[in-house]
Order: sequence, then structure tokens, then C-alpha cells
Amino acid sequence: MLDKVLIANRGEIALRILRACKELGIRTVAVHSKADRELMHVRLADEAVCIGPASSAQSYLNIPALISAAEVTDTSAIHPGYGFLSENADFAEQVERSGFTFIGPSAETIRLMGDKVSAISAMKEAGVPTVPGSNGPLGDDEEATLATARRIGYPVMIKAAAGGGGRGMRVVHTEGHLLSAVNVTRTEAHSSFGDGTVYMEKYLENPRHVEVQVLADGQGNAIHLYDRDCSLQRRHQKVLEEAPAPGLDQAAREQVFKACRDACIEIGYRGAGTFEFLYENGEFFFIEMNTRVQVEHPVTEMVTGVDIVREQLRIASGLPLSVSQEDIELSGHAFECRINAEDSRTFMPSPGRVSLYHPPGGLGVRMDSHVYTGYSVPPHYDSLVGKLITWGDDRETALTRMRIALDELLVEGIKTNIDLHKDLVRDGYFQQGGVNIHYLEKKLDL
Ligand code: ADP
Repeated sequence: MLDKVLIANRGEIALRILRACKELGIRTVAVHSKADRELMHVRLADEAVCIGPASSAQSYLNIPALISAAEVTDTSAIHPGYGFLSENADFAEQVERSGFTFIGPSAETIRLMGDKVSAISAMKEAGVPTVPGSNGPLGDDEEATLATARRIGYPVMIKAAAGGGGRGMRVVHTEGHLLSAVNVTRTEAHSSFGDGTVYMEKYLENPRHVEVQVLADGQGNAIHLYDRDCSLQRRHQKVLEEAPAPGLDQAAREQVFKACRDACIEIGYRGAGTFEFLYENGEFFFIEMNTRVQVEHPVTEMVTGVDIVREQLRIASGLPLSVSQEDIELSGHAFECRINAEDSRTFMPSPGRVSLYHPPGGLGVRMDSHVYTGYSVPPHYDSLVGKLITWGDDRETALTRMRIALDELLVEGIKTNIDLHKDLVRDGYFQQGGVNIHYLEKKLDL
């Protein structure tokens, strides 16, 4: 087993990783910016190193500072969490080259999956169903671009190969707008991601976002941990998630689970990963793969009993998966509400001092948060302050528990989106299950 892990992240996920390390008897190093001295995991870690000023570019994204921190603390491995450098192939490469273990897939795999064009073609080859599209990057030949769109059929979406975080996408409804949309997306992609490569996909009008969690040990074993529904989104950002995805076509679901497992073996995948799909009219369409632990991983843990972060640490230690596919039984249902420090209506971030924090409790209730009374949410990072997760024998019980838990949860002194969640878990359509990716934005418009 790894001996000492450096946690290259902050907030709730840093605490989540710290807990998993402690359970396995692994010593921990917290790294933090000057604005993050008061973070809970910094207090709880065996060692803490300040890696730079508040700005992420100079701290959590500062590769030399992270590697130096690993060196001075004699760390054996680095866990990148999610966001920041978690999907940066150069970081993974430099970590390994400096003699540390990167907790995640190989730099090569991260690179393959980080470019959506190469990810889609690798998945297609491995038998995973993809969205009808350009099958590669769009070139400079305008006639060819027009012909591709005609073949796919409008509406189409122009997407940046290097895109992420819901940015670098544009819907085109008519031929007259196609070429200018391609140019604008290309320019934006170049300035935002440093790579102007764009591709075209059929724009699915009313899909759901359904994703499949996988674990692979790089020793020939790969398993799936069923699916999650993350259709409640605002500006392509997830707000509330659940596992399993309700009301899917059972045969299509089994097929996609198998395809994901097969693809992991095919590409020699190692670690935790997520295959993201759009689901429409009983069919799955692959859009991208995330090569890291995801924010919403707890809902899967609640319904499968598998500790995903623990498995990541075991795999990075060179151990095989601790469970086989046959061991995993789907049990009950789980929801996760992302609690953000932001206004419930305007979504303006609301950093500041938390004057009172009271997490909910009870059977089937889990609160993953780094917040405590007196903690100040800094203005420099994303606004996630916690994740409230509930589990129940069935969907209705899990949802009832979420309603009760949200009423118990107190975060005072800053604005939060708790009221939005209280509203969502009482929404009639959401209660029925299976709303599409536009549902939340339409509801917010009213
Ligand atoms: P990112 O890497 O920025 O998260 P994704 O490719 O995962 O980008 O897409 C994010 C979201 O954008 C999806 O969950 C979905 O809501 C929407 N989206 C992406 N591709 C399509 C498509 N072809 N048709 C309709 N919506 C799409």
C-alpha cells in the first residue's frame, strides 16, 4: 500500500481523499494556498505545505510548486481530486517522471480522452455508441463542412475538441449560420483552451445526461458501478444528481455497461473513470470520458457499497480491484444536492464567513463538506461548499430523506442555493423521474 499521499486539491474533495487515506493507514500531506490555511483537511493532515498565493494559477495549478512539496515531504503519490490538474496529462507525466505515483490513469490515456475528437474515435472503435457527427475535426474546406452538416441533419452542435466545464459549444439550427458558428467556436476554443480544433455533432434536442462509473486496475480487470442521472443542469453544470438513472430501457442499459467495461480493457484503462452519455428515445450516445473521480461519485458509493476513492488508492498501490462485477449489487437509490455559496435566484457567488453551520443527520444521510462554523469561504475558487447525499431503499424514500435533510441543513452568514434544492425536490416532474437536460433552465425562466 502507498505510504504517503499528497492531496493536490482543496475543499470537500481534499477532505474526502484524506478520510480514505486514513482508513487505509496512509499518511497525508495537505497543500494549500495562502487563502486556504483554515481548510479543515489542512488541520487534519499529517503535514501541510503552503504552495503559493490565493490565485489558483500560482498555487493549485502550479506544477513546480506541487512537485517541490512532494519532494520536501517525501511523498509517494499524488491524488489530484477533480478540477485543477486532475485531467492535465503534462502534470501526470511530470509527477511520474519525478518519481511519484500519479493516482489516475497514464498520461497517455488522459491525453487520449482529454481530446474529445480522439476520445470519440477510440470509443467508437471499442464499440461504444457515439453521437452521429463529423468523425474527426472540421477542416478548412467549407463545402465539406456544409456537406457534413447536411448528412448529420440540423440542428448540429459545434464543439471544441479541448473543451470542458460546459464551454466551447455552439448550436446551429440552419445552414446560413453554420460557417460563422464554426469560425467563432474555433476562435474561442483557441483563446480559451489553446487549441482551435472543433468538430461537429448532431444536436440532440431533449436528451438526458446519463453516465456510467467504471473502475479498472490496469491488470485486466474492469467493472462498472452502474449509472447516474445528472440531467438537472444550469449552463451545462450539474446541480443535483441521482443513482441509478430512473426509467431507462433495460436492454440498452445492459449493453452500454458491457461496452464501457470492454472499452476499459481495450484501452488499458487504469483507475476510476466516467463515461458520459446523452440518452434519448431509449438510446445512449457517448459524449466524453472523465479520467478522474467526479463530484457526484458518492451517489454511486451509496447504491453499490464500493468506496471509489479507496479503490483509486488501492489501484495506485498496484493492487487488483477489491471487488468483482459479480460482487456488486445495486441497492436502493441515492440523491446528491450540490450546495453552493451563491444566491438561489441570481447565482451570484457569495463568499464570506459562515456564522453558523449545522449539517443534517440520520439514517441514510451523508454530508461531504469542509465547512464549519466560523469558516470563511474564500472568493478565489469555485463555490461548492458541500454535498448533501441521501440514500433510501427506493427512490421515494431517498427523496423524502433529502427533503428532511435540506430542512435541517443550516448554513448562515453567506447565501447558498439550499432554497433552490428545496424547491427541486418538491417539483412534480422531478419526483416522477427522467427529466431532460433543459428542464432546470426552463423551470428557472418561469
Ligand atoms: P464539457 O466537457 O464541457 O462538460 P460535454 O461534452 O460533457 O462538455 O457536454 C456538456 C453538456 O452539454 C451535456 O451534459 C449536455 O447538456 C450538453 N451537450 C453536449 N453535447 C450535446 C449534443 N450533441 N446535443 C445536445 N446537448 C449536448
